[in-house]
Formats: sequence, C-alpha cells, structure tokens
Amino acid sequence: MSAASSTDPGLILVIISSPSGAGKTTLTHRLLQEFPDLRFSVSHTTRKPRPNEVDGQDYHFVSEEAFRKLVDEGGFAEWAVVHGNLYGTSVSEIDRASAAGKAGLLFDVDYQGARQIKEKFPHAVGVFILPPSMEELRRRLDGRGSDDAKSRKRRFEKAREEIGHYPFFDYMIVNDDLQRALAELRGIVLAEGCRQWRAAAKAEALLKG
Ligand code: ADP
Ligand code: 5GP
Repeated sequence: MSAASSTDPGLILVIISSPSGAGKTTLTHRLLQEFPDLRFSVSHTTRKPRPNEVDGQDYHFVSEEAFRKLVDEGGFAEWAVVHGNLYGTSVSEIDRASAAGKAGLLFDVDYQGARQIKEKFPHAVGVFILPPSMEELRRRLDGRGSDDAKSRKRRFEKAREEIGHYPFFDYMIVNDDLQRALAELRGIVLAEGCRQWRAAAKAEALLKG
C-alpha cells in the first residue's frame, strides 16, 4: 500500500460497524497491528471512558458542551447520537491520516456515521460485523465487563435495529471464529488497495514506456 491524501480518492477508507459487542474493536485492533500503514480514526465521544480506555487513543473523551461547540464550528465530518451519547469523527482526524502519509483510515462508527462518511467519500468501503447469534452477542456484552447492567441492556436491545441496516454495507463478516473473521477483514482491505483506479497511473506509464 502506498501513501495518499484525503483529497484524492487514493486513501483507503474502511468503515467498520456492528451492533455493540459483536467484536469490531477486537478485529480493528488486530488489523491495525498487521497494517502499520493503516490509521485508526479516533472519534470524539461524550461517553465516559471504560477502565481500559486511553484518552486520545481509543477516543477523545469530551464534555457535551465541547462536543456541541465542535458541531457548531463545523468540525465534524459526521456525528450521531448512539446509545444516549454523542459520537463523531472530526474533520481534522481525517486530514491527519493523509498528513501522516498513511495509506488508509479505519472508522469504527455506527450505521448513521457510516452513511454520512459514504456521502462525503463515496469510495469508502463499508463492512458490517455480525455476531454468530443473539445469545452469543449477549454473552460477549456481559463478558466484556466494561459497561454497567443498564448500558448492556440498552446495547442489546438496540442490536436488532442496528443489524437491520446491513443492506447499506458492502461486505458482511460473521465474527464467530476470530481468526477466520480477521482473515476476511484482511482480504477486504487488501482488495481495496488493489482497486483498478489506484494503479491506473502505473498502467498508463507502462503503456507509454
Ligand atoms: P465491539 O467493539 O463490537 O463492541 P468488542 O471487540 O469489544 O466488540 O468485543 C466484545 C467482546 O467479545 C470482547 O470481550 C471480546 O474479547 C469478545 N470477542 C470478540 N470477538 C470474539 C470472537 N470471535 N469469539 C469470542 N469472543 C469474541
Ligand atoms: P462504544 O461506546 O461501545 O465504544 O461505541 C458505541 C457505538 O458508537 C458503536 O456502534 C461505535 O461504532 C459507535 N461510534 C464510535 N465512534 C463513533 C463516531 O465517531 N461516529 C459514530 N456515528 N458512531 C461512533
């Protein structure tokens, strides 16, 4: 993969969405370890940090006031209310990826964010992660041990509604076996890097030479 800028469609934009607990954070972290050329888009949120989360790394944890101010200033490429909290991808987060010379940017956003990113960047690819079953989804939400009972219940109750948005996405991965799911995600990212138009200049140069 070679570096690109967000103003040209060379930057690989991968949107990963799922109902909470299906495993997108786990898959995203594994993928980023394999591809140092990919950058994680660090969102802003008004949600309180979980014990294992680092400010500026997992999220930019901000007050509702600070979030709304950024909305008013036009600082978000997309934002939405999810599970009662505000989440958004800042414009500067996208600009930083190209400034850092990264080949691609990975978004962990809900379906509302996915739609807004696709509207702005039609070449972005959307991947929806499905849990193997609703029972397993509940087990994972409970087993993660990071949200209180009320929050887990809210997330589980929202899951079916979120799954209902699957037709919007380009790809779907059932996260039953983690290694297989990771292999599928890896395959999608590699295929995106091989889009015909990314190497069109190279082909044209060969034709001329
Ligand atoms: P999300 O980011 O979609 O909310 P997480 O990545 O936090 O989900 O995963 C939720 C829980 O499920 C975590 O405890 C994680 O370790 C576990 N998990 C993720 N993928 C799998 C899998 N394939 N098999 C079993 N457990 C998984
Ligand atoms: P969590 O609180 O579990 O980290 O995330 C809850 C939900 O918010 C997930 O569906 C996650 O994808 C979504 N989310 C995280 N960041 C953003 C963002 O910047 N924009 C939008 N629209 N959703 C986000």
